[in-house]
Amino acid sequence: MNIPEIMVNLKCLFCSSPIEKSKDLKLISGDFFQCSKCGEYNDYTSLLDVAKEEAREIAKSSAKDLLKKEFKRLFKGN
Ligand SMILES: [Zn+2]
Repeated sequence: MNIPEIMVNLKCLFCSSPIEKSKDLKLISGDFFQCSKCGEYNDYTSLLDVAKEEAREIAKSSAKDLLKKEFKRLFKGN
């Protein structure tokens, strides 16, 4: 069973616009990152927590989908 790689974008906690972080910008937990849209400062640790939570939800639902497909395939032959 192939589980697709999950990509979750970091989103501004204030305006939900995706945060584009340049690759050479290194953020560590505890850092603050300014949103280019609304100018608010996001706590990087919280951003990561939100992204992790989102990834977990996506993983859960795509695993369910895969299982459903697998079951359908198995029972089709009967
Ligand atoms: Zn924002």
